[in-house]
This record gives sequence, C-alpha cells and structure tokens, in this order.
Amino acid sequence: MSYRIKTLDTNFYITAPAPDSPITDELTGVLSFHTAIPIINVYEDEVLIKSFVVETLLTNPDLSGQFLHFSVRILANSGVMIDGIIAPRPDTHPTWEDPDYEAIRLQPFFLSTADPAFPQRLIGKGLFERGLHYSGTITPTAVRNICICDHCQKSFTLQHIHGGHSELQYFYSEDSRQTLLVHYTDIPNLPVHLQSEIDEKLISEVEAQLPLPTNGKGKFRYYNALLCPHCQSPFIDFPTHKHIRPVEYYGNTYINEPFFNFKL
Ligand SMILES: [Zn+2]
Repeated sequence: MSYRIKTLDTNFYITAPAPDSPITDELTGVLSFHTAIPIINVYEDEVLIKSFVVETLLTNPDLSGQFLHFSVRILANSGVMIDGIIAPRPDTHPTWEDPDYEAIRLQPFFLSTADPAFPQRLIGKGLFERGLHYSGTITPTAVRNICICDHCQKSFTLQHIHGGHSELQYFYSEDSRQTLLVHYTDIPNLPVHLQSEIDEKLISEVEAQLPLPTNGKGKFRYYNALLCPHCQSPFIDFPTHKHIRPVEYYGNTYINEPFFNFKL
C-alpha cells in the first residue's frame, strides 16, 4: 500500500511525504485504458508535471479496453520511475515470453524536491544516463521507451535494437527520421560499440561509403543526434556529448518506423 502515490483513470498523483515518513515509496497495480491512444499524466501535489502519450503499435493500434499492469517507484533522490506491461485482461500479468507481450518504460523524472542539478545534468544525454536502459541488462525489444523532450516537454516513443548484441552499428539521418544499420563486417574500420578510441578520420571514410537517406534529407552520420520529433531539438545530443556515442549501443527509431539495412 502506497502512501504517496494514488491513481485515478490513467493519472498518477504524487503527494509530499508526511513529516518523519520516508521519501521512497512504491505502488504496483492495474489501470484501464479508455481511449485508443491513452495519455498518462503525473501530478505532484495537484500540479501536472509530466504527460506521456502512449503511442500505439500498428499491430495493436487501439488500446481502449486494455490494461496497464504498472509499477511506480519514488527513489530517495526524488526520482520517479514508471513502467508497465500492456495486457488484454486485468487479472493476467503477461510476461516477456508471451507472443503479444508489449511493455512501456516511461522516462524517469524528478519531483520538485530533487536537487535541481539532477535533471539539469541529463539534458542531451543518452538513454542509459536517463534511466531508460541499464548496463548489463538487455532491454527486450518488446519494451518501448516513452521519452520527454528536454526542450518542448512533449513525449515521443522510441523502439530499439541492441546493437552490440547483433553486431550492428547504427547511424541516424540528419533529421533522425531514418536509422541505418551496418553489420560490423560490412565496412572496414566501422566503429564498434564500446570502442574506447574513435578515430574521426576513419569515421569520415566509413560515412563516405554509406547510402543517402531515402527521404533525401542530409546524410547518415555517426555523431548525428536523435532529435525530438516535435521540435527537432537534440534529445540524445551526440554532437555536444561525443563521449557517450560509443556507449549508447541501443539504436533507436521513432515508433513504427523501420530500420534501414546497409547492403553492399
Ligand atoms: Zn521537443
């Protein structure tokens, strides 16, 4: 039983801890979706602080009448983590082994009681630092991340592949609407994930061998940022934070967009 977190419809309400009570708290439960594309709102003391649109897969476009088996955790640093599994029934908790398994992970965020430096230092950072992936644990492809733009605060959904696992390097197009996958063996000197030294001259040689995005916009480049699809601000800002590029080994697409495969 949670004392700081309550739910109503698809909204979460978080209240301040009572004096002498712990900051940390947790609530698990089931909520029902009543609209095709539900919105999960989070309120802190009645103030709306985050809004996550649960964009849907083409294979399951209407979530009305379905359920979210959710978990909400408030951490000691006033961070909030929310995730859940979408299911057709409230009483069966699907697992990732189910064929129609579908899960969402909401970008963790901080309450107003957190040190302001915490959210500030995540601007433009990767999905590991933002708490959407964990080192040493593979995020199943059936889990999709709902991110919040640092700039416009609107949400957008990403799907991913684990590039290290499949020995695939990825390249975002300039508008990040296309993601190209290149196998490690397809191009000599292709940078691999977790590589410690990146030679920018070799990167340029590799990039010169890549095809152009089919939407005719810009080029695929190793350091292209993943942009917010609403306001085009850099979300994973590789040009500003080049050092995170080798460790961001999940390649992303916006929801329902295909990956493009490099062909020799
Ligand atoms: Zn934005």
